[in-house]
Amino acid sequence: LLSLDAATVRFGGRAVLDAVGLDVAEHEVVCVLGPSGSGKSTLLRAVAGLQPLSGGRVLLDGRDQAGVPAHRRGIGLMFQDHQLFPQRDVGANVAFGLRMHGVARSERDAEVGQLLELVGLPGAGRRAVASLSGGEQQRVALARALAPRPRLLMLDEPLGQLDRSLRERLVVELRELFGRLGTTVLAVTHDQGEAFALADRVVVMRDGRIAQSGTPLEVWQRPADAFVARFLGFDN
Ligand code: ATP
Ligand code: MG
Repeated sequence: LLSLDAATVRFGGRAVLDAVGLDVAEHEVVCVLGPSGSGKSTLLRAVAGLQPLSGGRVLLDGRDQAGVPAHRRGIGLMFQDHQLFPQRDVGANVAFGLRMHGVARSERDAEVGQLLELVGLPGAGRRAVASLSGGEQQRVALARALAPRPRLLMLDEPLGQLDRSLRERLVVELRELFGRLGTTVLAVTHDQGEAFALADRVVVMRDGRIAQSGTPLEVWQRPADAFVARFLGFDN
């Protein structure tokens, strides 16, 4: 579905993304791990079309996306600061994704209802965003990102500010949801537990490069090098 071919992003001469090659298959859930500043968010922004490449290519279904604007790439995006519209109710926030996608007004209500059920917030359409807990707001943001039924969903620290027990519960729910919808997912997290629980494949980044890519078990049992081992918390 998605391929990066020597994708490079430079800021002032420094390669923040350094000739990254990555393939994500249809229905695959890939989690990107790595220290702060290793280029994780830049990677997602480059795939989304929000960050121009200095070199290399991003391909979706084998088609070079150079010059294809973000809203035409069929990608759902959810960032850590999910930027819900606080003055609109939950339903309006979710419907925003549908309107962007050209779904007729008459069909939107039913769609919104289904999406809210999907993320475990049935009947919450009329509630004020401000009255929701952090975890509930994250779910609304997820419903909004899922609304256009994107083939590829990209999440940047989607469970960022939540407490551990809520994160653990949501990870299980998300895993189940993505499996059911067949959504292909590329997610960034700095939480290994989260990545290992969610992902079919884990990608560890270091200084704009991919230090290792493998199943959670492979990465856990055979870290590619001392950096990955240290990052995972092994004492060599
Ligand atoms: P974190 O875990 O802290 O979110 P990250 O892995 O997502 O880190 P990026 O946001 O991708 O890191 O940034 C990678 C590097 O690129 C950082 O050193 C950052 O300062 C730099 N960078 C990102 N965007 C820009 C920009 N627009 N201009 C200059 N430098 C940038
Ligand atoms: Mg980041």
